[in-house]
Amino acid sequence: MPLLDALGRPLEALRISVTDRCNLRCTYCMPRSAFANHAFLAPSRLLTFDEIEHLARIFISLGVRKIRLTGGEPLLRPGIVDLIRQLAPLPVELALSTNALLLRGQAAALREAGLQRLNISLDAIENEVFGVMNGLGVSTENVLAGIDEALARGFSLKLNMVVQRGVNEAQVLPMARHFAARKIPLRFIEFMDVGNNNRWDRAQVFSGADALEVLRGDFDLVPVAGPASETERRFRCTRTGAQFGFVNSVTAPFCRDCNRLRLSADGKLFTCLFARTGHDLGGLVRTGTVEEKIAAVIRAVWTGREDRYSELRATVPATESKVEMSYIGG
Ligand code: SAM
Ligand code: SF4
Ligand code: SF4
Repeated sequence: MPLLDALGRPLEALRISVTDRCNLRCTYCMPRSAFANHAFLAPSRLLTFDEIEHLARIFISLGVRKIRLTGGEPLLRPGIVDLIRQLAPLPVELALSTNALLLRGQAAALREAGLQRLNISLDAIENEVFGVMNGLGVSTENVLAGIDEALARGFSLKLNMVVQRGVNEAQVLPMARHFAARKIPLRFIEFMDVGNNNRWDRAQVFSGADALEVLRGDFDLVPVAGPASETERRFRCTRTGAQFGFVNSVTAPFCRDCNRLRLSADGKLFTCLFARTGHDLGGLVRTGTVEEKIAAVIRAVWTGREDRYSELRATVPATESKVEMSYIGG
């Protein structure tokens, strides 16, 4: 019997942030100006791998069947391959989200450690546009090499592209062509108002519907049914078999199907991407709290959960402070 929250949603998925640091400064996530003097978590505050595994086992006992490692940039966490090796045997679908800058050198070891699924973020094929989006002028070279290496190692891949009107919408079609040719599913993510620093403006949201319209010029798309709880709308090209997904979190919120929790790198549990405070599970683990007590805390947090920020967006004052995505784990 799944654990249901206050709105009847089952607990099924967990995102675990393994670091709040990143080697990019994407303007929509960690804008350079806001993060120039940012106080990142001290290494001693990060959950250890044993603590992460311990918590993961408790979450699984409560019904979690998907775990995604994220950040910040998870491939920056020293020993990430060892963490994968610890988590891979657990009865859960394990995946990792990465900007792929460091993937070329780590893909083989990650695969050998038992990781099979990668979500890769890339917002443009053209270097100049990518450089603007990533805030540091970094080129696509290492990302594309990382993707090739991951393909060669047999990973199951998905590409994620945040589309921001006025910045990278002209990359929608080039990205679609590039990844369709490589048979890698591409998902278009609407620019969201996460955190407090990305100067979100509704007018800059390039909607999934807009992206779909652009693609229709090149691809014969038909909708594909996915699992009912899925947050993306899927389409397939009848000619080429290319697959596309649309995560329309702003224009078509999917809070009613939101089945996930997020654990920050220092062990705080968040019930929504737009939450303001977390519940300190790391503290419980470090003070030797027994497993049953930790499970009871998680159960209470989930059963009391009423979050549905995206559905209420229009009514939430823009001045309310939110947690940063790079900290909570995107
Ligand atoms: N660094 C890794 C990466 O970029 O894949 C993992 C963490 S990142 C926070 C996870 C995902 O969040 C990325 O796909 C990123 O594009 C997305 N993201 C971050 N800020 C966002 C925003 N304001 N709107 C929509 N998606 C965002
Ligand atoms: Fe880093 Fe990922 Fe955020 Fe970009 S989206 S700044 S790669 S954490
Ligand atoms: Fe889930 Fe919160 Fe996003 Fe709604 S706004 S889908 S509740 S994380």
